[in-house]
Amino acid sequence: MGGRCRARDALEVLPGVGTKTASVVLNVAFGVETIAVDTHIFRVSNRIPLVVAPTTDKVQAGLEAIVPAPYRLNAHHWLILFGRYICKARRPECPRCPINDLCRYPSKTL
Ligand code: SF4
Repeated sequence: MGGRCRARDALEVLPGVGTKTASVVLNVAFGVETIAVDTHIFRVSNRIPLVVAPTTDKVQAGLEAIVPAPYRLNAHHWLILFGRYICKARRPECPRCPINDLCRYPSKTL
């Protein structure tokens, strides 16, 4: 759910709370199907690619549009863990990546 809602508006007027933090709170505390985009999700999305976009807000909108509903609530956590432990920033672990046959990242470490 990438559209505006009253809860999101209320969160984002708080000092230091931007789109990502508001999305995390909406997802974890209120069960809203948001996909907050941090540095890991931004990288993974552009690499595979799932969504190619220059900003985190655009990646979030793209992911929320393409991730099927049954997975949308937890996709945020899965993508962060995938980026933190497999599709790492400096040297992705492509040989043990479960989607290395699908990934189109030109600098795979296979
Ligand atoms: S194959 Fe490599 S670059 Fe592609 S998603 Fe897997 S870890 Fe990331």
